[in-house]
Amino acid sequence: MTLRELIVKRKRMGAIVTYLGLAWFVAWMALSGARPPWLFVAFPGFAVFFAGTWYLLFFLRCPRCRGRIGYTVGYPSNPFSISRKIRFCPFCGVALDSELEANRVV
Ligand SMILES: [Zn+2]
Repeated sequence: MTLRELIVKRKRMGAIVTYLGLAWFVAWMALSGARPPWLFVAFPGFAVFFAGTWYLLFFLRCPRCRGRIGYTVGYPSNPFSISRKIRFCPFCGVALDSELEANRVV
């Protein structure tokens, strides 16, 4: 497994959780007509959306140096992959297409 594959796997899970939270929030807002008590069912979806976005930005880290790589890999591509133009970690310079085991710190 390469570093890119590991980061994409984590990013994909984060994006799925984020979008499910957003879908939950939007669906319950629409179904409840923004009125209580069903309005309160929508809020956990917003919390999940917020937490997922937070994870994608600040807790997606380089497997080698633990640098916060989320913002770098987040913007210029679709939510479920990393652009092929991003080839190196901006913090430690490791190639994202190198094997994970070769970079593991023991
Ligand atoms: Zn790094």
